[in-house]
Amino acid sequence: MIKVNENYEKLAGNYLFAEIAKRTKEYQAKNPDKKVIRLGIGDVTQPLAPSVVDGLAAGAKEMGSADTFMGYRSDEGYEFLREAIRKMDFLPRGVDIAIDEIFITTGAKEDTANFQELFSLDTKVAVPDPVYPVYVDANVMAGRTGKFVDGRYEGLVYLDCSKVNDFTPELPKEPVDLICLCFPNNPTGQVITKDQLKRWVDYARKNKAVILYDAAYEAYIRDPEIPRSIFEIDGAKEVAVEFRSLSKTAGFTGTRLGYTIVPKDAVAYDSDNKPVPLNKLWNRRQATKFNGVAYLIQKGAYEVFTEKGRAECNKIISYYMENAKIIGDGLKSIGIDFIGGTNSPYIWLKTPGGLSSWDFFDKLINEIQVVGTPGAGFGKCGEGYFRLTSFGKREDVISAVERIKTLKI
Ligand SMILES: *Cc1c(COP(=O)(O)O)cnc(C)c1O
Repeated sequence: MIKVNENYEKLAGNYLFAEIAKRTKEYQAKNPDKKVIRLGIGDVTQPLAPSVVDGLAAGAKEMGSADTFMGYRSDEGYEFLREAIRKMDFLPRGVDIAIDEIFITTGAKEDTANFQELFSLDTKVAVPDPVYPVYVDANVMAGRTGKFVDGRYEGLVYLDCSKVNDFTPELPKEPVDLICLCFPNNPTGQVITKDQLKRWVDYARKNKAVILYDAAYEAYIRDPEIPRSIFEIDGAKEVAVEFRSLSKTAGFTGTRLGYTIVPKDAVAYDSDNKPVPLNKLWNRRQATKFNGVAYLIQKGAYEVFTEKGRAECNKIISYYMENAKIIGDGLKSIGIDFIGGTNSPYIWLKTPGGLSSWDFFDKLINEIQVVGTPGAGFGKCGEGYFRLTSFGKREDVISAVERIKTLKI
């Protein structure tokens, strides 16, 4: 008799976005004449940069000619793209990443979820709270946790992020093997300094642990002192893997391209305590389970790593960051406390009057028809907080802020 992977039955089910959609629909059905503005989604709204579109089109043309047609090729990605990434993302920051340490993929969600496959089932995993749910759910599916009790999975180590520690996780009090970090953070918008990140790298080296570093929002960092890559920290190549994505950098959420950096020095240990390079294992894993990103998508992505294409993408990022400033100024003017919005597209606000995340959601939609994301949906420590995103269209952001200013708190 066929049996299911019962780990899937442990999943708490992410009702967050379904519940938001349901409440929004109910409100709209009762109030058909009201215009609801959505500042909740973590998806971009601006179109692809012109250079990227030209790259995609050129790639499509090549696919239509027998001389330039591309079939199965290397599943790690084309060298022209990996070389461009090496030169634009890393060398200018003093980080030398070899092209065979760069793996092109369809996105960071896939890789942050899949990478845990390389580690043993008894790996002790630490995740921040609040957290991007993918890291947690992938480990639940793999069987590294117990049941979901009181909003948390047994067996995981949660790193509380709250006002007390400025929403930056502290080193765990018990030993852990795998640490998931994300900076600039989704959902809080918090960034990490080099000194703070160095403490994590030192911890991982001392404890023979590995850090999975999600840098999906690095392009939003404006402060030159804030590290854009964990590899800017000495020794990180021995203990860290970094996930990057063009989703938020270049509007690729629907086009799909990410890249994962697995340094050759990064290792995990076998049962004889022998170090095994993660680069070799990941290469083997991808060769079996992944067959590469479409040629034309890689051609479009290449343009993001040219001066012209990058300038076009930066203009779009500046548009979102201006949105973030407009939202932040609006919140300040009515005395709502928040972090984020300066090196990140996310704004993490304290719900006024001690309201719960969901009560604040209801208040916003009922009183001013603005939809955001209740912090409680990202973990226990998110209760009493609320996430707004700057990915909306400018006119919507301006109207939403005008409405927020009329909020009675
Ligand atoms: C959006 C996002 C990503 C990027 O995911 P893709 O699969 O590349 O679209 C990765 N991590 C976090 C935390 C995100 O919010």
